[in-house]
Order: sequence, then C-alpha cells, then structure tokens
Amino acid sequence: MGNLQAIKGMKDILPADISAWQALEQLLADIAGQYGYQEIRFPFLENTALFKRAIGDVTDIVEKEMYTFVDKNEDSVSLRPEGTAPCARALIQHGLIREKATRVWYQGPMFRRENPQKGRYRQFHQFGLEAVNVEGPDVDIEQMQLMWRLFKLLHLDENIQLQINSLGTSEERKSYRSTLVAYLNQHEDKLDEDSKRRLQTNPLRILDSKNPVMHDIIEGAPKLLDSLGAESKAHFEQVQKGLEAANIPFEINTKLVRGLDYYCHTVYEWVTNSLGAQGTVCAGGRYDGLIEQLGGKPTPSCGFALGLERLLLITEPKWLAKSPDIDVYFIAVGEAAKQRAQLLAEGLRDSGKSVLVHAGDGSFKAQFKRADKSGAKWAVVLGEDELAKQQVVVKPLRESGEQRTLDFNELATRI
Ligand code: ATP
Ligand code: MG
Repeated sequence: MGNLQAIKGMKDILPADISAWQALEQLLADIAGQYGYQEIRFPFLENTALFKRAIGDVTDIVEKEMYTFVDKNEDSVSLRPEGTAPCARALIQHGLIREKATRVWYQGPMFRRENPQKGRYRQFHQFGLEAVNVEGPDVDIEQMQLMWRLFKLLHLDENIQLQINSLGTSEERKSYRSTLVAYLNQHEDKLDEDSKRRLQTNPLRILDSKNPVMHDIIEGAPKLLDSLGAESKAHFEQVQKGLEAANIPFEINTKLVRGLDYYCHTVYEWVTNSLGAQGTVCAGGRYDGLIEQLGGKPTPSCGFALGLERLLLITEPKWLAKSPDIDVYFIAVGEAAKQRAQLLAEGLRDSGKSVLVHAGDGSFKAQFKRADKSGAKWAVVLGEDELAKQQVVVKPLRESGEQRTLDFNELATRI
C-alpha cells in the first residue's frame, strides 16, 4: 500500500511558506483594525440549512460544491464554503446586529468540492469583513478603500482592476428576470446545457457564463442596470463618486452578478489577468436582505471576501518578507557544554530572545553551517575551553563585526 496523501485539492502549508502567510495575516488584521473592524471567529461546521437559506439552493456552491454529511444524530451539517452566512448567523444569535454599523472581520479555511487547479482548491483561505446594520453607500466605499490600501501596500495596484455593478433591489431583479428570460427564450436553440438548466432556476447566473459559445448572446442581453429605479441608481452613482474621490480606478461591468443569491445593490470584484479563469481575487457587495432571511430584523449590510491563496500567487514575496525570526543559534560541542547551552538558552529566552539550540552532534564547522542557514543574527559558541572559563563566544552572522567573548552572566543582557 502506498503512503497516505492529503485529500486532493487540500494543501499543506509548509514551514518555508509560513512566514509569508503570517505576514499577510498580520497585515490584514492591522489594516482591518485601522478601519475599526474587530475579529470574529465562528465554527467550521454549521447546519446545512444555513447555507441553503443564505447562499441559495440553486447556486453552484450549494448545488455542487459543499461538503455535506449527516452526523450521528441525523442532522445535516456542512463545512463552511464561505464566511458571510455563518458570520451573520453568529451576529444574530448573539444580538450584535442591533448596534448601528457593527464592523467585523474573519479569516480562515473554507471548503468547496471543486476541480482543483492553480488558484482553485478544496480547502482554501478567505479573509473577509462585514459591516452590518448600515445602509451605505459610504460603507461600500470604505471597504473598497481598505482593499485598495492593501493592494497598494503589496504593490499590486497595477495588476488588479476593480469591476463594479449594481444588482438593485430584489423587486428590481425580479422584473429584470422576466425581461431577461423573455430575451433568452428567443435564443433558446443557441444556449449551452448549463444555461438551459439555469433558464428555469437562476437565469441571472447565465450572464456570468464563461463558455465562449454564450458570448454573443450575453453581449446582446438587456442590462440589469437599465431597469433599476431612481433610488438604486442614486446609490450606484454615489458609489462611483466615492471611488473617484478616493482615486480608486474602476470599471463598470454590467454582467457581474456574483454567484450567491444574497447580494443586492453594489457588487464588485477585484480581478487580475495573471491567474486565468481564477482571476477574481476578492469579491463583495451589499446583502441587505440576508439577515432578515436568516430570521433577524431587516438589516442592510455589506462585506467582501478575499482569497488568500490567489493573493499570495500574485504577490512578490519580498513585499511580505520579514526579518528572520531567530536571534541566536547556539553552538555547543561536548556533553557538558551541550547541557550548559540549554540552560543559557533559557536565560536568553527569559529576556525575550528566540534561540535555536543545535540539536544532535556535529563539529563546530557543521554547526556553523546550520547557524548560517537558520537566518539567526548571532551564533553563540560554547566549547570545552569556554566552559572551563564560564564564557561564551558571540559571533554576528548577518552583519560584519568582531566576535566577542562574554561571561555567562553577561550573555542575556549584552546580546
Ligand atoms: P470563482 O468564480 O473563482 O469560482 P467565486 O465567485 O466562487 O469565485 P466567492 O464565493 O465570491 O468566489 O469567494 C471570494 C473569493 O474567494 C474568490 O474571489 C477567490 O479569491 C476565493 N475563492 C473562492 N473559491 C476558491 C477556491 N475553490 N480556491 C481558492 N480560492 C477560492
Ligand atoms: Mg466558485
């Protein structure tokens, strides 16, 4: 029997990659904090009914992508495919939506059973944020501003475009839906299988089809933007004015509909053309009806989710590089010296240093090689001679400088 492997589409994040992840997570937490968003953590597993009700029964996520199973007491549960629904559930459950403009962010793994490829995995990570009980459009703009700040910090502002659209209210979408269905019915013979099926269940999603045979039909379709009422149009215009004032370049994409049923009014995607069909790095918008749909009071809200794997794929590592984590690599040769090294290392750690003590045997030369590779700032060396004099030799590894000899009791304070 072969070795056991991770499940297809589920990736290990290895130590060599972890510093980029940690730097990105820290950066996101810091930026969200600058805008007054606080972290929330909710479970990985929820009742399946939550996602069906929130995301919609006839969406790709709920129809095809969820990891759903029946647990021992016959409840249908699902691994979270996204964060907005469980976040809204948690805020309702704990009475946190009564407050005006509750701002929260979350970060962590999501699960969708898709065909794995570059930028598309079965376990992936999202950073998301939500502002609930606030009408916008100021908050809609704030959240795009926050993302724009991130993209600039990561030097991605040339590489990523913001596309926006408005989906109006659910009434406006309903009337547009009949207009669209009437148009598509005239072209039924030219629709692909997926679109024929969607014509019955979720016709707006047809606009999102990536199938080239659908291109001309979609181009010629009536536009949702044209059938919006005055209020929805005003909201959308204010979003555009806000983006212009903030100097954030954007494009209007009238075919942008998003794959989740809860969106209304402002919807948007941040798109790169360097990831092929996986080009959407971040997506969001308003979901004024969601919280009511989940049993809460009518609560206008707005949020987005950012795919961290896709972001890391297009970010140059140097913008997330951190200085090495290890301060001291402790080199010791001889049984007694090795024992003493462990104690001295504890003293260094007491004063806040990170210390890697050489594990196992090895000549001075071999240990120095490891010390260099570790990225440590200093090597501290303890051989039998030093041990006899109760001293260590400290050698800088990253910068030029003389090596020094220190007494044991000076080590923790003078390094
Ligand atoms: P796509 O059209 O690429 O399938 P989506 O519309 O399903 O994306 P959302 O549900 O809006 O995506 O999720 C927000 C973001 O999460 C995406 O823009 C993307 O960056 C990321 N994401 C979604 N699904 C995956 C996945 N399977 N693997 C990696 N990242 C993903
Ligand atoms: Mg998808």
